Amino acid sequence: MRVPVRSALRSLWDAARPVIPCIWRGKYFSSGNVPVQNNRVTPMQRHLMYKIKSTGPITVAEYMKEVLTNPAKGYYVHHDMLGEKGDFITSPEISQIFGELIGIWFISEWIAAGKSAAFQLVELGPGRGTLTGDILRVFSQLGSVLKNCDISIHLVEVSQKLSEIQALTLTEEKIPLERNAESLVYMKGVSKSGIPISWYRNLQDVPKGYSFYLAHEFFDVLPVHKFQKTPQGWREVFIDIDPQISDKLRFVLAPCSTPAEAFIQGFCGHKLHDVLTAPGTADLTADVDFRYLRKMAQEKVASLGPVEQKTFLKNMGIDVRLKVLLDKSDDPSMRQQLLQGYDMLMNPKKMGERFNFFALLPHQRLHGGNHQVNAQQTKPSASPVAGFDELTWR
Ligand code: SAH
Repeated sequence: MRVPVRSALRSLWDAARPVIPCIWRGKYFSSGNVPVQNNRVTPMQRHLMYKIKSTGPITVAEYMKEVLTNPAKGYYVHHDMLGEKGDFITSPEISQIFGELIGIWFISEWIAAGKSAAFQLVELGPGRGTLTGDILRVFSQLGSVLKNCDISIHLVEVSQKLSEIQALTLTEEKIPLERNAESLVYMKGVSKSGIPISWYRNLQDVPKGYSFYLAHEFFDVLPVHKFQKTPQGWREVFIDIDPQISDKLRFVLAPCSTPAEAFIQGFCGHKLHDVLTAPGTADLTADVDFRYLRKMAQEKVASLGPVEQKTFLKNMGIDVRLKVLLDKSDDPSMRQQLLQGYDMLMNPKKMGERFNFFALLPHQRLHGGNHQVNAQQTKPSASPVAGFDELTWR
């Protein structure tokens, strides 16, 4: 039997959490909104200059890796760059509804895939832990559906600072955290609803098991190589010290082929803003090439999307959820914040069309399951995947 999403969402009765006025994150390869002084040499810049002086120009990928995740000075490692006082804000920070709908998505997929006895939820780059927090609240509220399922949370995070904030957001404070900086699992805790949570620096350290992976605003911070078309063919872009101005970095083209060229499929010309100024103080992001992701994954898994955020959230029932929260709230400023958050997530001129959802699923999930053959059908057919189609609730 299918129950419309309305009844599932109506069972969520938690209070609305505040919405923060925001700057959303740019999708293009650009610096963040930190005002930078052009003449400022940051510790990261000094480090990069030593590196270039000793081993020669570096690739854009190496530049991104150092600037973002260098253990001593990386932008992500010691900053809390998210939220009201940070450099940018992301969808889960804007509205609780975002994470709640993702929580519903996991439950819907867990049901469609045959209700495994256990699953791991693995989040890559969990930021402040807000998204997983909202998902876990939905798991608690729909506890009767998940009651026989053994759930564990696995967070892949390189940032010391953000992992501390995630632990504050997600774990039960009465149960002390276990820390071991030397271990592959560098921290362990227990959520407020009793679910074990583990932290890793690398995805390959997460134990094997039936898993759902979640990567929100993550792929765009992974290092990319950059190329430019020249009369001699594609040449890789490197970063070097400007010979005219000794404390300035500049882009240069490799004079001949480099190993990374073997992997080109074509690329888009990114805008080159001031990404070489004051490195380590601002975010760097690159467009995510979903076509390439699909191509790389297609032999092993099926893919869905990308679909625009406004379509995905609409299909997941954002309007119903907004109405529930508005109906419950008597506070005009809270209602106003809920409406502003909705507008930020859904408005095509804001995040509605700039952000996309993309799913990788086992082939059998899309091309015929084994758990819902109906008597009139000769071939098993899979149920639609929520978000990419309208959510239905069995
Ligand atoms: N998903 C969150 C935060 C996005 S910001 C949200 O939507 O709000 C990117 C996150 O990825 C941060 O938590 C950052 O510390 C983390 N990160 C960046 N590079 C990483 C890497 N190579 N491995 C693991 N985490 C990384």
